[in-house]
This record gives sequence, structure tokens and C-alpha cells, in this order.
Amino acid sequence: MADPLTELKTRWQTISDLRHAAAVLHWDQSTYMPPGGAAARGQQLGTLTRLAHEHLVDPRLGGLLDQLERNGGACLPGSADAALVRAARREFDRAVKVPARFVAALSAHTSALYDTWTRARPADDFGAVRAGLERSLDLSRELAGYFPGYDHPADPLIDYADHGMTTAALRTLFGALRAQLVPLVETITSQPPPDDACLRQEFPVDQQRVFGQALIRKFGFDFQHGRQDESPHPFMTSFATGDVRITTRFQLHELGDGLFSTLHEAGHALYERGVNPAYDRSPLAGGVSAGVHESQSRLWENVVGRSRAFWEQAYPELQTVFPDQLGPVTLETFYRAINRVERSLIRTEADELTYNLHVMIRFDLELAMLEGTLAVGDLPHAWRERYRTDLGIVPGNDRDGVLQDVHWFSGTIGGGFQGYTLGNILGSQFFQAACAAHPAIPAAIAGGRFEPLHGWLADNVYTHGCRYTPTELVEQATGHPLDIAPYLGYLETKFGELYTL
Ligand code: ZN
Repeated sequence: MADPLTELKTRWQTISDLRHAAAVLHWDQSTYMPPGGAAARGQQLGTLTRLAHEHLVDPRLGGLLDQLERNGGACLPGSADAALVRAARREFDRAVKVPARFVAALSAHTSALYDTWTRARPADDFGAVRAGLERSLDLSRELAGYFPGYDHPADPLIDYADHGMTTAALRTLFGALRAQLVPLVETITSQPPPDDACLRQEFPVDQQRVFGQALIRKFGFDFQHGRQDESPHPFMTSFATGDVRITTRFQLHELGDGLFSTLHEAGHALYERGVNPAYDRSPLAGGVSAGVHESQSRLWENVVGRSRAFWEQAYPELQTVFPDQLGPVTLETFYRAINRVERSLIRTEADELTYNLHVMIRFDLELAMLEGTLAVGDLPHAWRERYRTDLGIVPGNDRDGVLQDVHWFSGTIGGGFQGYTLGNILGSQFFQAACAAHPAIPAAIAGGRFEPLHGWLADNVYTHGCRYTPTELVEQATGHPLDIAPYLGYLETKFGELYTL
């Protein structure tokens, strides 16, 4: 009979293969599947998900974990195997604590609500989703209830995506950030906005794609181990370190959308591709948390991809691709256009500075709903009030208000938004640490060379996969716990140069 560690690893390979097979079907569903495939695809995904879950909650797996943990653990403390047992335990415990009938009920409810939402949003009809959202709130509370001992019902939901984070810690962190951001946005938006008309000319999609692919190739995206396809909502998915997929949405009359979503998803892909291949098919595979994942997409999209240094070398190339559109536009005009700050309604289209305010509004509202201080029926009003106070703009309808994001309509209420702002904070913290280790990184970026930055991230973040907790990873890579100072410093320097602060 195999030793318990070998058996655990072998069993996990089956779980991993089933999940990644489901991920391939998801990817196909979002890219190439004809509409007629939907019903069969739903059944196929349901079967694979159920099989993976059955393998995960197998009591034999729990027995192996018990055996491995007995007597202080069979693995060397601090070793990759010890981390593997820890990561497997965390997933196993989460899976067995939640009854299978609840998982099925939640899944059936959220797919029905999602379907309703896809029609309610264009119709601007909050009433159509209200009862469903109330049920989601009940189910979210019930899910939290399977993890007793928390201080706030959002805690287990947050911990699932961003292990180690709590509502209380995030409230403190976001409060401090918001206190700096609101007046900064106020100061900037009281000044005349830069002209960004240059981004809204006609840009043939084929050329956009070729240019974007050339950029991410330079970042280190490897088309022998990845693909880029198109989908209405850009995403990244990975089936192994050797096969990572990104999707992009191109618009003929808007250059920024396709360009920056390409850089964003490529950042996610570089992370997944960079995990130690020895961790494939194990609990250590993949990115460690929503926040750390988002730190990589935002770092490549914004810290690099919206920097002046980057465009000093890339802009002449972009002008060559679009001579009629951008030939007469100076680098300065283009740089200001891609960094235009404005009070806006839609999170996914928000600039770097206001983006976090959108996230915090959602975070606070979902906490209030979970606490029972905000009723679902009052949500549209509460949404408008927070937009008024935080962003100084009020949506004229629910389509561009409370109905705009898919999260609450396709999953739990709680745990879905904090990762975006954590990612912005961490992206700057990692970048600062990389530049401290290799002071030549900014000059390399200005010269179109990304290997020094990519190499540091690969060695200090990517390769570790889930070997360390997010908290351990951040401290180890940057020498400090999570800290908003590098991010605020970055924003003040960058926007202080673009605007009068
Ligand atoms: Zn992302």
C-alpha cells in the first residue's frame, strides 16, 4: 500500500483533472460553443463538478490528512509537502462542512438568478431580481453559518477568496485608503479633464489584436503555452502551468478597452504560468488568493501598462500600426488620455484612482446586507446615496447602478469584491519591492525590456503557487505586511505629475 502522502497526491490528481476538464468546458462555453450546446454543456459541467466534489469529500481523504497531521505531521515543517497537506486540509474542511444539498441548492439558485439578471439588467428592472437577491442573502448567511466562530458573517466568505483577511481588518484598511482617495479625486476632478477623443477613433480590430499580442509577448506571455481568444467578458483560465488562456473584448471605436484588458488578463496568465510546474495537479497549484491574483493583473495593466516609461517605447510602435489615427497625436496627449480621472458610474471602466471607491461602495453595502441593517429592497437607494457621497455622481437608472456587476447575481453576497482593491494595494507593494531589489527595472521598462520585472515576480511570487499563505507570501516577497503606503505614494507621484494636487 502506498504511503499516505503519495496516496493523497494521487487522489488529488483526480480532483484536479476533473476540475480542469470542467474549466476547459467553461472556456469553450464562453468562446466558441454554439448556442445550441448550452443544455448539454450544463449537464456535462454538472457531472464533472459533482464528481470532483465527491472525490474531495471522500472520508478516505480526511483519514489520510489525519494520518499525515498526527504526531506533529509526517512532513518536514516548512517543506512543500507540509504546505501541500495544509492546503489540502483547508479545502477538505471547507468542502465537508457544507452539506451537499446546500451546495446543490445554492448552485441551482444562482444559475437561475444569473439567467434572470441577464434580462433584468438591460431592461433596468431591479424588481425582477429583488426576490432572488433576498434568497441569495439568506443562502449567503446560511453558508457563513457552516463556519461557526467568525466575528462577522462575511468573514468566512472573504476568507474563501482572500485567506487570512477579515471584515474588521478590511474595514480598517479600506477606511484609511478611502480617507485619502476621496479628497484626491475631489481635487483632480475639479480641474479640466484631459481630452481622450484620440482613443475613440476607428481602430480595426485585427490590428488591435496584433499589437496587443506583441506587447504581452514582450511581457513574457508564451503562445506555446497560452492562447488569446475573444469573449464578451474578458477572463483568464488555466488548465495547467503549461496551458493558460486569456480572452479579450475588442471595440472598433474604443482602443483602451481591448488594449488594457489584454494587458490585465496577461498579468493573471503570467502568474498561473509561472507557478512551479511540480505543483501541477496538487493543492499547491495556481494563484494563492483573489487579491494576489489581481495584484498581478493590475500591476501589468496599470503600474506598467499605463506608465509614461512604458509608452515612451511602445507609443511610436502604436503610431506605426495606426498612422492615420495616432500619427498626429503626441505621446503626452495619449498618455494623459489613458490616465484620465473622472467621476463615473461603471466600475469596470473606472480609472485607476476612482476604481477603489467603486469597490468599497459594494463592499460596505454587502456587509450592511449581511448584518441585516440594509434590506435588499432598499439597496438601489443606498447605492445611489453612496455614489453621491463618494463619487459625486448619481446613476439615473439601476442598469448603471446596482444591476451593473454580475457578482451578487451569480454567487454569494460577500467575498467577491475586496480582492480588487487588495490587488491594487499589493500590485504597488510588489512593484516597489521589485524595484528595490533591482533598481534598473524602471529603466528596463522604458527600454521595452520586461525580463527584470518578470523575473523578480516569477521568483518571489509566481513560483510559490499556494505554498505560502497570502500573508506569508507578501511578507516574504516585500519584507512587510500588507501596506497601503506604497500604493498611495504611487498614486500621488503619478497623478501629481498629471494634475495639480
Ligand atoms: Zn482581474
